Amino acid sequence: MGFLDKAKALGSKTVEEGKKYAEITKLNMEISTIQEQIKENKIAIGDAFVNLNANSGLEGIVLPEPVLSQIREFNDKIIQFTQNIQNLQNKIDELKNVGKCLECGADIAGNEKFCSKCGTIIPEAVQ
Ligand SMILES: [Zn+2]
Repeated sequence: MGFLDKAKALGSKTVEEGKKYAEITKLNMEISTIQEQIKENKIAIGDAFVNLNANSGLEGIVLPEPVLSQIREFNDKIIQFTQNIQNLQNKIDELKNVGKCLECGADIAGNEKFCSKCGTIIPEAVQ
Protein backbone atom coordinates (compact mmCIF):
# COMPACT_ATOMS: atom_id res chain seq x y z
CA MET A 1 0.00 0.00 0.00
CA GLY A 2 1.42 3.34 -1.08
CA PHE A 3 1.48 6.43 1.08
CA LEU A 4 -1.57 7.98 -0.58
CA ASP A 5 -3.59 4.79 -0.25
CA LYS A 6 -2.65 4.59 3.42
CA ALA A 7 -3.65 8.22 3.94
CA LYS A 8 -6.98 7.62 2.13
CA ALA A 9 -7.64 4.51 4.22
CA LEU A 10 -6.84 6.44 7.38
CA GLY A 11 -9.03 9.33 6.26
CA SER A 12 -12.06 7.15 5.57
CA LYS A 13 -11.46 5.33 8.82
CA THR A 14 -11.53 8.66 10.66
CA VAL A 15 -14.73 9.63 8.84
CA GLU A 16 -16.25 6.26 9.80
CA GLU A 17 -15.22 6.80 13.42
CA GLY A 18 -16.72 10.27 13.36
CA LYS A 19 -20.02 8.94 11.97
CA LYS A 20 -20.02 6.21 14.58
CA TYR A 21 -19.54 8.67 17.42
CA ALA A 22 -22.19 11.02 16.02
CA GLU A 23 -24.57 8.05 15.93
CA ILE A 24 -23.64 7.06 19.50
CA THR A 25 -24.24 10.63 20.67
CA LYS A 26 -27.63 10.65 18.93
CA LEU A 27 -28.61 7.34 20.51
CA ASN A 28 -27.48 8.53 23.94
CA MET A 29 -29.64 11.62 23.51
CA GLU A 30 -32.61 9.42 22.64
CA ILE A 31 -31.95 7.36 25.78
CA SER A 32 -31.80 10.56 27.87
CA THR A 33 -35.11 11.73 26.40
CA ILE A 34 -36.76 8.41 27.24
CA GLN A 35 -35.24 8.44 30.74
CA GLU A 36 -36.68 11.92 31.20
CA GLN A 37 -40.09 10.61 30.12
CA ILE A 38 -39.81 7.73 32.61
CA LYS A 39 -39.01 10.26 35.34
CA GLU A 40 -42.01 12.42 34.35
CA ASN A 41 -44.29 9.38 34.50
CA LYS A 42 -42.93 8.39 37.91
CA ILE A 43 -43.63 11.90 39.15
CA ALA A 44 -47.14 11.66 37.68
CA ILE A 45 -47.74 8.44 39.65
CA GLY A 46 -46.62 10.29 42.77
CA ASP A 47 -48.84 13.28 41.94
CA ALA A 48 -51.83 10.98 41.52
CA PHE A 49 -51.30 9.55 45.01
CA VAL A 50 -50.67 12.94 46.59
CA ASN A 51 -53.89 14.29 45.04
CA LEU A 52 -55.79 11.18 46.05
CA ASN A 53 -54.54 11.51 49.63
CA ALA A 54 -55.45 15.21 49.70
CA ASN A 55 -58.90 14.75 48.17
CA SER A 56 -60.28 11.53 49.55
CA GLY A 57 -57.52 9.99 51.63
CA LEU A 58 -55.83 6.66 51.11
CA GLU A 59 -58.29 4.68 53.25
CA GLY A 60 -59.79 1.85 51.27
CA ILE A 61 -56.93 1.84 48.78
CA VAL A 62 -55.87 -1.77 48.36
CA LEU A 63 -52.08 -1.69 48.48
CA PRO A 64 -49.64 -3.53 50.71
CA GLU A 65 -49.22 -1.66 54.01
CA PRO A 66 -45.47 -1.02 53.45
CA VAL A 67 -46.32 0.81 50.22
CA LEU A 68 -49.13 2.78 51.86
CA SER A 69 -46.95 3.82 54.80
CA GLN A 70 -44.22 4.89 52.37
CA ILE A 71 -46.74 7.02 50.49
CA ARG A 72 -47.90 8.55 53.80
CA GLU A 73 -44.28 9.26 54.70
CA PHE A 74 -43.68 11.03 51.36
CA ASN A 75 -46.93 12.96 51.81
CA ASP A 76 -45.81 14.16 55.25
CA LYS A 77 -42.52 15.32 53.73
CA ILE A 78 -44.37 17.20 50.97
CA ILE A 79 -46.55 18.91 53.60
CA GLN A 80 -43.40 19.86 55.55
CA PHE A 81 -41.62 21.12 52.40
CA THR A 82 -44.70 23.14 51.44
CA GLN A 83 -44.67 24.70 54.92
CA ASN A 84 -40.95 25.48 54.51
CA ILE A 85 -41.68 27.23 51.21
CA GLN A 86 -44.45 29.24 52.89
CA ASN A 87 -42.06 30.28 55.68
CA LEU A 88 -39.45 31.36 53.13
CA GLN A 89 -42.12 33.23 51.14
CA ASN A 90 -43.17 35.01 54.35
CA LYS A 91 -39.54 36.06 54.95
CA ILE A 92 -39.35 37.39 51.37
CA ASP A 93 -42.60 39.31 51.90
CA GLU A 94 -41.20 40.71 55.15
CA LEU A 95 -38.00 41.82 53.41
CA LYS A 96 -40.03 43.39 50.61
CA ASN A 97 -42.09 45.10 53.33
CA VAL A 98 -45.24 43.50 52.01
CA GLY A 99 -48.18 42.81 54.27
CA LYS A 100 -51.34 40.88 53.56
CA CYS A 101 -54.82 42.38 53.43
CA LEU A 102 -56.70 40.95 56.41
CA GLU A 103 -59.88 40.94 54.33
CA CYS A 104 -58.83 39.33 51.03
CA GLY A 105 -55.20 38.27 51.52
CA ALA A 106 -53.84 40.46 48.72
CA ASP A 107 -50.27 41.80 48.97
CA ILE A 108 -50.09 45.25 50.56
CA ALA A 109 -47.00 47.40 50.07
CA GLY A 110 -45.79 49.23 53.19
CA ASN A 111 -47.02 52.65 52.07
CA GLU A 112 -50.54 51.69 50.96
CA LYS A 113 -53.49 52.96 52.97
CA PHE A 114 -56.11 50.86 51.22
CA CYS A 115 -56.10 47.36 49.73
CA SER A 116 -55.90 47.83 45.96
CA LYS A 117 -57.98 44.70 45.49
CA CYS A 118 -60.89 45.04 47.91
CA GLY A 119 -60.50 48.60 49.22
CA THR A 120 -60.23 47.63 52.89
CA ILE A 121 -58.49 50.26 55.02
CA ILE A 122 -55.09 48.96 56.13
CA PRO A 123 -54.57 49.23 59.88
CA GLU A 124 -51.36 50.96 61.07
CA ALA A 125 -50.01 47.65 62.40
CA VAL A 126 -49.65 46.24 58.90
CA GLN A 127 -47.76 49.28 57.69
ZN1 LIG B 1 -58.09 43.30 50.32
